[in-house]
Amino acid sequence: MSFFDKMKQGASEAAKKAQQTVEITRIKASIFAKQKEIERQYQLIGQQVYQAYSSGSLSLAETAIASGAEAIKLIEQEIKLLEHKIVEVKKEKECVCGKVVLADTKYCPGCGYKFPNEPVIIDLENPSREP
Ligand SMILES: [Zn+2]
Repeated sequence: MSFFDKMKQGASEAAKKAQQTVEITRIKASIFAKQKEIERQYQLIGQQVYQAYSSGSLSLAETAIASGAEAIKLIEQEIKLLEHKIVEVKKEKECVCGKVVLADTKYCPGCGYKFPNEPVIIDLENPSREP
């Protein structure tokens, strides 16, 4: 490979890296926003419980607690998907044991699992598909 080719490759690697960093920062920002949303849900549940307690019947808060908890569950799932996305952007993959390794790793350093030859890429369009 010529000197210029090497330089070109280095430059595009750097550009790729920068793009990757931007993407990861963006995903982390949405994770942060979702964590804030969970906190808000906790607060709402707390308010409902307090109001129900004050009015003398805690059971009044039951529905509100259930819907708040459901909302939190959903947001937690969304956060999980976003964390998966970060793994994908970093060109990493997750082992069956849960250890995160580089995409071209053949054997897991944690448990010794042999990865199939084709790297498992998480489909961003259908992130519900679990590996
Ligand atoms: Zn493993």
